Amino acid sequence: MNKALTCRETTYLVISARDEPLGQAQQQALAAHLQTCAYCRTANAQFTTLFAQLDALLARGVQP
Ligand SMILES: [Zn+2]
Repeated sequence: MNKALTCRETTYLVISARDEPLGQAQQQALAAHLQTCAYCRTANAQFTTLFAQLDALLARGVQP
């Protein structure tokens, strides 16, 4: 059963998906919210960029 996510819940899912894969229902709810919410689309894109940069740094073994 799907319920609409709040922006706060959406951001939490985007971040927690880094650590453990989302369930199918969570993925669908997240995708549905991103389709309708420009704020969360922007936030999601920024998190994706940030995490990619973090991964690149960690892969090179650079200390913060
Ligand atoms: Zn939102």
